[in-house]
Amino acid sequence: MPNPGSFADTVKQQADIVRIVGGYVRLKKTGAQNFSGLCPFHKEKTPSFSVHEVRQFYHCFGCGASGDVFSFVQKIENITFLEAVRGVAEKLGIQAPRQAFSPEEAREAQARGALLEMQERACVFFEQQLRRPEGAQAREYLASRGLSQETIREFRMGYAPDSGFMLRDLFRGAEEELLRQSGLFSWKETEPFEQPDSNEEQRKPPRSALYAKFRGRIMFPICHDGGKVIAFTGRRLSNEEKAGPKYLNSPETAIYSKSRVLFNLDKAKEHIRALGYAILVEGQMDCISVYTADFKNVIATSGTAFTEPQVRLLARHSRNVVVNFDPDAAGAAAAERSLALLVEEDFQIKVLTLEPGLDPDLFIRRRGRQAYADALRSAPQYFGYLVERARALHPPRSPENKLRAANFLLPHLNRVPNRIVRDELAADVAQKLGIDSVVLRQELRRAAAARSSTVKAAAQPALTESEKILIRALHPATAEGGDVARHLAEAIEAESLHRGLAGEALIQAALTGNDAELSEADHARLAAILMRDDEPLTTELLQSALNALRVIRLERTKRELAGRIVEAERRQDQSSLLALVQEKQRIDRELHAAGQ
Ligand SMILES: [Zn+2]
Repeated sequence: MPNPGSFADTVKQQADIVRIVGGYVRLKKTGAQNFSGLCPFHKEKTPSFSVHEVRQFYHCFGCGASGDVFSFVQKIENITFLEAVRGVAEKLGIQAPRQAFSPEEAREAQARGALLEMQERACVFFEQQLRRPEGAQAREYLASRGLSQETIREFRMGYAPDSGFMLRDLFRGAEEELLRQSGLFSWKETEPFEQPDSNEEQRKPPRSALYAKFRGRIMFPICHDGGKVIAFTGRRLSNEEKAGPKYLNSPETAIYSKSRVLFNLDKAKEHIRALGYAILVEGQMDCISVYTADFKNVIATSGTAFTEPQVRLLARHSRNVVVNFDPDAAGAAAAERSLALLVEEDFQIKVLTLEPGLDPDLFIRRRGRQAYADALRSAPQYFGYLVERARALHPPRSPENKLRAANFLLPHLNRVPNRIVRDELAADVAQKLGIDSVVLRQELRRAAAARSSTVKAAAQPALTESEKILIRALHPATAEGGDVARHLAEAIEAESLHRGLAGEALIQAALTGNDAELSEADHARLAAILMRDDEPLTTELLQSALNALRVIRLERTKRELAGRIVEAERRQDQSSLLALVQEKQRIDRELHAAGQ
């Protein structure tokens, strides 16, 4: 509690905790004087965090966190009490008296203030330069990227002239140390530390050595989530390599840490909250295109992998994201890491993949806004997307491939922090991969629950006796079946009865007479089957083996239907539900007729 009459007390009197907390947490009015939302201090799915408007107090029934407006800001920003007081005062536009802080804090606050002011002045300078005749080439470039005057103004794009001295002249009179700390300048160390006993002042290179870091570049300001300019990205205008890297960023400074900023979050945050999700793109240009196409809940990672502070920053506004970058693209390790971190932090993720070769910027310019909106709407859940990827890499036609696909998915499943969610996902994956072996299904769920790294190959499903009999009858090496075998082959092919069976590959090989593509394990199994001659292949035996395959097929269809019925019930999709139930009854009748 601040002392009565102190500066902190004055600030607290004027601050409204609902508004301050509401800047970080999505709050809903739940009582006459109460608001509630998801606690920012522990992970939860149902709100147990509440804010009392009259008592100016917050309390979480989940983790016990509670306190006043300052303790909230202190905790969420991870700062000291005085910094929190200053932060809240700043938000309210209250000027802090100097004596409110320790001399050291006052000095630091002043330095930060001065650095912020420098970035703002530099930003205005770059904007002006873009409008001058020297900025013609930059304006042309921006126009060629389809950026309107309005967008250029809104994002405060600018132009850093070729001259290294214009910007320095702008800050004439400023302390040289401050200029160096601003990240706006470069310098040559003309006199490296030659005199060990000379003092700091003498060691510094002469002032004339300072020159603008960004030259001949289009400037994009980077803002913190409060909207103040803290750094820049400069895009090279000339195509010459010697003009430096294509994109140049401000170095880390006292006010800018790359890993703690999300590009455009200042503009996007209210839209993210209103829409309940964020669109995540890689590049700043992509972000600007998507934003100007009126998808204002978009932010960019600026081409690097997400960091934990960035994920927490985003989580304050929403835990739902649609990521619009291609995790499959070459060199997209950053995208993969970003996704992993989001999964670990319990985000609900959808993946929007555009046509190959089209980034969001190009896509919107070529296909238009509506096409992007459609793509956004139909973006699959991350795990659905991963299952498709696993199916493409290891088409689940054989038990071996199903095992490979399951093992491909397992590390992704294991990142999910919640054990129950992991188990549900594992069951879902098993169904989508058509893993109908009970053993393998259980093994996958067990591995996911225990977070072990692989599903054991020992879980490979065994061949049924009927499959063995049919393989023996059909295989050209034995040709035991005769005319009956031909009839069997036709039935199996026509009804695709072998699909999804443990012996699928072996039956397929027997049908085509081609063993070449069998795995080593299957070759061994085939050899063992063909060596057997214990039982004569009577017509009755073959007929009952074929019948057994039909029953297996029916049982599997029944299981799939049961899964779809549960799904339809969840969606409350009455019309599908009716059709599915009728279909299941038909299967039941067929099973009954088959004597099961
Ligand atoms: Zn809590």
